[in-house]
Amino acid sequence: MGRYLDASCKICRRENEKLFLKGERCMSGKCSLGRRRYGPGLHGRRRHKDTDYRVRLREKQKIRFYYGLSERQFKISFVDAERMRGVTGENLLQVLELRLDNVVYRAGFAVSRAQARQLVGHKHFQIDGNVVNIPSYRMRQGQVLSVRDKSRANKDCPVFAAIESMGTRGKFRPRWLEVNDGQLTALVKDRPKREDVVDIPINEQLIVELYSK
Ligand code: SF4
Repeated sequence: MGRYLDASCKICRRENEKLFLKGERCMSGKCSLGRRRYGPGLHGRRRHKDTDYRVRLREKQKIRFYYGLSERQFKISFVDAERMRGVTGENLLQVLELRLDNVVYRAGFAVSRAQARQLVGHKHFQIDGNVVNIPSYRMRQGQVLSVRDKSRANKDCPVFAAIESMGTRGKFRPRWLEVNDGQLTALVKDRPKREDVVDIPINEQLIVELYSK
């Protein structure tokens, strides 16, 4: 599966939107989007014609990169969302929000989704007492995410630094997560709703239209 290996900031510049891919840097004056508000590469300053297809494609790419997924992973999430009852676009956001790597990030246990994915892969977390190292694991209402005893015993564990920097990163915890900083746990007390995704402007309907063609 192809992985994006180039600079993350180029993605924000291409979408002309802050996607918060790099933790603290995103909230500082070092953010590339603030300094260079044009697309990356040789043709970055060119004006592009906004065809219907381009608008929908860019919206899909923006959300895909925001959650850090490959095309294949994103399509699987979309197919799952289509199978669920209700509005497909809202279901898609719910599916993406409940991914384990995203829950770790939303709980403040990692500075970015990329770091969250790495920490999950390195077995720093457990769900309802069982170690889970699959970033795409979809959490359910009522499940409790916690930091493993081995990891919380290590004061250099990046989870502590991430929690400390929550304020400076301007991050807040969503309504559907109940986080206990002392015990390093996060309870999924509700399903995420459309209005809970407020970090970036998203028009999920455009993605549904893109895949419906
Ligand atoms: Fe880079 Fe973060 Fe700024 Fe995006 S928001 S351009 S990832 S520093």
